[in-house]
Amino acid sequence: MGVRVRFAPSPTGPLHIGGVRTALYNYLFAKKLGGTMVLRIEDTDSTRYVPGAEEYIFEALRWSGIAVDEGVEQGGPHVPYRQSERREIYLRYALQLVESGHAYYAFDTPEELEAARAGAGETFSYNHAVRERLATSLRLAPEEVRQRIDRGDQWVIRFKMPANETIEMHDLIRGDVRVNSSTLDDKVLYKSADRLPTYHLANIVDDHLMEITHVIRGEEWLPSLPLHYMLYRAFGWSETQPLFAHLPLILKPVGQGKLSKRDGDKMGFPVFPLEWRSAEGEVSRGYREDGYLPEAFVNMLALLGWNPGTEQEIFSMEQLVEAFSLERVGKSGARFDPEKARWFNAQYLHTMDNDVLGTLLQPVALSHGFECPAELASRIAALVKERATFVGELWGLCSFLFVAPESYDEKSVARFWREESPARIADLREVLTTVQPFTASALEQAITGWIEQGGYNMGQIMNPLRLTIIGTSRGPSLYDICDILGRDETLRRIDRALSLLP
Ligand code: GLU
Repeated sequence: MGVRVRFAPSPTGPLHIGGVRTALYNYLFAKKLGGTMVLRIEDTDSTRYVPGAEEYIFEALRWSGIAVDEGVEQGGPHVPYRQSERREIYLRYALQLVESGHAYYAFDTPEELEAARAGAGETFSYNHAVRERLATSLRLAPEEVRQRIDRGDQWVIRFKMPANETIEMHDLIRGDVRVNSSTLDDKVLYKSADRLPTYHLANIVDDHLMEITHVIRGEEWLPSLPLHYMLYRAFGWSETQPLFAHLPLILKPVGQGKLSKRDGDKMGFPVFPLEWRSAEGEVSRGYREDGYLPEAFVNMLALLGWNPGTEQEIFSMEQLVEAFSLERVGKSGARFDPEKARWFNAQYLHTMDNDVLGTLLQPVALSHGFECPAELASRIAALVKERATFVGELWGLCSFLFVAPESYDEKSVARFWREESPARIADLREVLTTVQPFTASALEQAITGWIEQGGYNMGQIMNPLRLTIIGTSRGPSLYDICDILGRDETLRRIDRALSLLP
C-alpha cells in the first residue's frame, strides 16, 4: 500500500500558520512519495466547535495551494471524513476495549471527582493508583454497572493505562522515545453525555480505518504518543500502526516560547493565513489580506523547520516536493522572522510576470480615476516592481506617472536645486524637444551626450531634472519615466517646475 498521510485539524478557530505548515509538510511528504493526502475534520469536542472554522481551513489550504486527495469536500473511499458524522463507529471500538479489559466505565460525578481531587491535593491523577477506589466498573459489580447505565447515569469510558511499564516509541524526527506508563493517567475515550469520543479514541480509530501510514503533526501532540501507542496495542493494531513524526514548534520572533497571535499583534504581522472575524467581531489579520502571494507564504513556511541542506531559499511548490524529506526537519523550534516573510514576498513579486502585475495595477489606477491600458500597466509594473514588497505598494510607487508633482520635496530641493539649475534645465529642455523618437534609449543617448558635451557631471544635471519631473530625487530610471510620460507631459512638468522653483 502507498503512503497515506492526513491533516486532521479541529475546527476550533482560525488555522494558525503552524497548522498550515503541518498541512504543507504532510502534502510535500505525500507528493514526494506518490502518496495520498487526507483531510479529516476532528470535531468531536462540541464545546470547542467554532462556526466557520471548517470553511476557513478549506479556504486556507486552497489559497496555499495544498491540494487534498480525500476529505470532506473531495470524498473518497473512507467517507465520511468529518468525525461528527462517524459517531456510531467510535462507541463500538470503545466497548471493544472495555470487553478486552483495556478500558473501563467510570461513573464519577463532577462532585465526586472534585472530592477525590481535594483529598489528593494538587497531585491528583486519575490513574492506576486510584482507579480501583473510584466509582468504576473495575470496582463495582457487573450488575450495578448495568443498572447504572440502564437508569441513565452519566458515564465515561477510560483507558486503563498499565502501571510501571516502559513504553518504547519511535519518532521519525526525534528518534527513540521512552516513557514509564506510571506517569500517565487514564484518559477518557468516550463520553455518554454527548455520545462522542474524545480526540484520542477518534484519532486512533480513524487513522487505523483510513489506513494512514504516517502521522506528521505538531510537537504539542508528542505527550499523547504513549497513549496512542498503547491504544494501537490494545486494539491489536500495532503491526499496522502508522509511523510518527512530530514537527518542531514555531517560535516567537524574540524571546521564549511559541509564536502567538499576541506576538503578531504587537509586532504587526499576521499569524493566520487568511483574515478571520470572530463572532465577537474581533478581526485577525491574514497573510492573504496583507498582500502576501501564496507562493511566497508557502515558501517561507516550508523553511520554518525544514532546510534543504543547501543555500537555496526560493522554492516553487514542485521544487519543495522534490527536495522535501523528514530527515531534514529539525528537532528544535524554528524562530519566526517577520522580516524574512516580507523578504520572501518581495522576491516573488520581483519575478512576477509584468502583464499579470499590470492587470492588478489597472483597477487600482482606475479607482484613482486613471484609465491605464494593459500595455502601459505592464510597462509601469516592470519599472517599479523591484521597489515593492507587496502588490499594494505598486500604486504608491508609480502614482507620480499619473499625477504631476504638486510640490517639490524640500530636502531634495535644498540639496540638488542649485543656482545654475534653472538655466541648465532650460537648456536641456530644448534638447528634449528634438529627441526622436522620444524613447528611453534615445533619451539616454541624447541627455548623456549633452551632459558630456557641456562638461557637466551626471548628478549635477540628472538630480535637478528628476526633481522637476517627479518632485523628488528618488525613483526608477528617469529615461523610462520620461518615455512613459511622453514628450508633452515631460515638457509640461519641466516648465511648471521652472516657474515654481527658485
Ligand atoms: N485534531 C488534532 C489537532 O487539532 C489532530 C492532532 C493529530 O494530528 O493527531 O491538531
